[in-house]
Amino acid sequence: MITKENIKAGLKKIGLKKGDSVIVHSSLSSIGMVEGGAETVIKALQEVVSSEGLLMMPYPLGNATIAKIFSTSPGVLKSFHPTHSVAAWGKDAEKIIEDHIKSPTACGKNTPYGRLIDRNGRILLLGVDQDRNTILHTVEEYANLPYLSDYKVKYIDKKGRGREKVLKKYPGPHRNFIGVDRILKDADVMKIGTIGNAVVRLIKAKPMVKLLLKELRKNPALFLCDNPNCIDCVIQRGKISKINLKNERFTLSAVSDEISDNPEEIITALNEEGIKYLELRNIYGQPVLNHPDDICNNLNKMLTVKGMKISGIDPGITVSPEFERNEENINLLENCIIKAEIFDASYLVLHPSGRNNEWVEGKMVETLKFLSGIAEKRNIVCVLENTPGTYFGNSKECLEILKMVNSPCMRLAFNPAHFVLNGEKPFLDVSPSIRKWIYVFYVDDALFTGSFDLPGYGNAEIKELISIMRCRSFDGFLSLKPGLTKTLETFYKSVRALQRLLETM
Ligand SMILES: [Zn+2]
Repeated sequence: MITKENIKAGLKKIGLKKGDSVIVHSSLSSIGMVEGGAETVIKALQEVVSSEGLLMMPYPLGNATIAKIFSTSPGVLKSFHPTHSVAAWGKDAEKIIEDHIKSPTACGKNTPYGRLIDRNGRILLLGVDQDRNTILHTVEEYANLPYLSDYKVKYIDKKGRGREKVLKKYPGPHRNFIGVDRILKDADVMKIGTIGNAVVRLIKAKPMVKLLLKELRKNPALFLCDNPNCIDCVIQRGKISKINLKNERFTLSAVSDEISDNPEEIITALNEEGIKYLELRNIYGQPVLNHPDDICNNLNKMLTVKGMKISGIDPGITVSPEFERNEENINLLENCIIKAEIFDASYLVLHPSGRNNEWVEGKMVETLKFLSGIAEKRNIVCVLENTPGTYFGNSKECLEILKMVNSPCMRLAFNPAHFVLNGEKPFLDVSPSIRKWIYVFYVDDALFTGSFDLPGYGNAEIKELISIMRCRSFDGFLSLKPGLTKTLETFYKSVRALQRLLETM
């Protein structure tokens, strides 16, 4: 049997003392058999902090017995709030609960939670974990995290009238507050003890808030879980990365048919992820060249409405050693450039094909020079994607070709996965010599064993590459082009994987 004296001793041992203001989150059953039950726990708390202190508990909280009984105990006042009301007893209880409903947010300044922090209060977790620590919502509010949103709530006011209120900066459905425990433990703002079977944590609220705000500046996703199948957290992380992307020098883009064939689906997906640019390859199952101008103009309008643009177009043009500089091919290129102009695209993707052992002295370079000449006149950049098994396959070949063509309008679409498939290490072996030619960086990863994987999970050294390109203020395009199944799900997973890399560098 746990007695009142046992509880008082346990509380004092972790540092709770007379005059303290404390918010208590508790579970009676986790303590074990308490002589006199919840009343005894409440008495013990009251006696330790005394009437010079302040005792507060969120109310109502489902089956939290202690909080429920506390809220109906003599001398206990309750704040009026539809989602986050508290019960309070002791010094300044009236002040602490005052006008809770008038605050624009549920847990911030001018709420009992914000006020408890201001008066150097403490947080007591009695047999419960950080998941129950409501003041962590206050921290989220103070940090103004991008995933917080407005929440409309209906309630009955004190006079029995139906009312509606929009709570600002309201938290999302899922968070991983449990992970906060490790940080608080290491930083010494929390003491841990036991009362009966219950593990008890006493936290100094103000230093906790300060510490976590600092941590959140480093990582705004600190409170979110890392489970790629947690839709809540995936969406919340998307909102954070929207903000982060604004601070990058490079521009993030994604290849259209890697997401979907349907423009509406593509636009929705990009919008959710804060990606403002689209590399247009196939659309409605057809290469962009097959579509009449009105379809293109319509797509343009749809993008403009959402503040999006086309980064480049990939009409599927292959440039082989047999590519003739004849009228037909000149027209083909002209048509591509006209399409690119409709979309105000910056670049045009060209695909090398075939091998030519004599390219050094000849034909391939002449053809590419010819194409870049047209591109220069029309003010568009042609990018050649390194492709295994072609004359533009390994880094040596790519570099020699680019140097010989030597045009600002004939640049490299750097696909690190393709170098991996060629047996090269994209960061260590390839990038030092070739990076000044990169105009588009394809976010595409692969393993030396030959299969593709999500960005950062293969051998393409994506993280190292992005990091060094950041250091060099790379201001071209990063285009998501995972060589995996072309589904919405894969797109979201790829974005998540890329965000994970960006968050950790
Ligand atoms: Zn989650």
